[in-house]
Amino acid sequence: MTSGAEALARLVVDVPDYPEPGVVFKDVTPLLADPAGLRAVVAALADAGRRDGEVVVDAVVGMEARGFLFGTPVALELGVGFVPVRKAGKLPRETHSRSYALEYGEATLQIHRDALAPGARVLLVDDVLATGGTVEATRELVTACGAEAVGVAVLMELSFLHGRARLGDLPLTALLTL
Ligand code: AMP
Repeated sequence: MTSGAEALARLVVDVPDYPEPGVVFKDVTPLLADPAGLRAVVAALADAGRRDGEVVVDAVVGMEARGFLFGTPVALELGVGFVPVRKAGKLPRETHSRSYALEYGEATLQIHRDALAPGARVLLVDDVLATGGTVEATRELVTACGAEAVGVAVLMELSFLHGRARLGDLPLTALLTL
């Protein structure tokens, strides 16, 4: 049987100097195209939403865009709903917004104000944890909705960028740490 870590090692392609010099981009499209590999990583990510075999989250939040691709099947696997966090200007109804610094410039993420029930326990899902800015902003958006992020699950953690330090007490599940 394919394990999540084995699938990542085999099916994620490193693309040097993309989108800019010095960055090694983790291309997950071969993983998405491989049903056994995709099934293995989705199952492993979903385990972050269970304790002792019981589902302990009420929703999965995924960040645009690759968080949608992995977060939605994780939500289905856990039997809970999926909520998208999108880049500014994409959600059609009233939103909460959070801006955060990128290496050059700023990014803004948004969530629908009514996307999460008050008190809901939420698992955040994305493909890569790099500097942690995306997860930190998403956690703040969840809090603004009156809900609570109780964990974050990613395929890969780029530990040399120290994103974990920005998560505080939020438990991190990374299928592969690089
Ligand atoms: P950060 O906010 O710095 O933790 O960056 C995380 C976000 O940027 C995630 O949504 C990733 O999809 C994307 N990302 C950052 N670094 C990479 C990388 N080396 N390869 C692919 N995606 C990345």
